[in-house]
Amino acid sequence: MSGPVEWLLPVHCAGCRAPGVRVCARCERALARPPELVMPTVALDIPVWSCGPYGGPHRRIILDMKERGRVDVIPHAAAVLRAALEYLAARGELPEPQELSLVPAPTTRKHARQRGGDHVAALCRHTRLHTAELLFRIPRARDSVGMSAAERRRSLSGSVRVARAVRPPYASVLVDDVLTTGSTLAASRAALAYAGVAVIGAITLAAA
Ligand SMILES: [Zn+2]
Repeated sequence: MSGPVEWLLPVHCAGCRAPGVRVCARCERALARPPELVMPTVALDIPVWSCGPYGGPHRRIILDMKERGRVDVIPHAAAVLRAALEYLAARGELPEPQELSLVPAPTTRKHARQRGGDHVAALCRHTRLHTAELLFRIPRARDSVGMSAAERRRSLSGSVRVARAVRPPYASVLVDDVLTTGSTLAASRAALAYAGVAVIGAITLAAA
């Protein structure tokens, strides 16, 4: 789809900055790699998969969505996520995507507003799979910048809350953009377990 804005703003590939396309063929291929099981630093009792390393087109696409509010890239990232879920279903590691509820990792509402919407929730919705936006984060006075991994973990655990007591209709899979230590996923998993929502796995677009 082209709109009047494109006459004013030149389009470039979100993965490599090549002009004329939103995502070029070369980056599409790089993004189409099968998901891999990853081991977060924080112990989790559910499998965690990543669609690729946090580098190259994966990283640039995430930064475009997250920092630059480039919503035109979200459908491409959603196609990557959906293909990964289909791959895992074909291998018998997850139920069919239509029988999953995607639970976006939490964001603070303030952040979501500032950046023009929660990009992880938008990513989940664009897969056209069932999306349960259940999690939110209670903002902390102290910023996590400069904290050690252990301090960050302590600060995160307990700050993730389940918004409503509605159980998703399908088996829940946590979704986030980047896996770093796994502390966000662990805090989300714990909050959902406390609310009686079972999680069968987690998937991220990239793993740092
Ligand atoms: Zn490209």
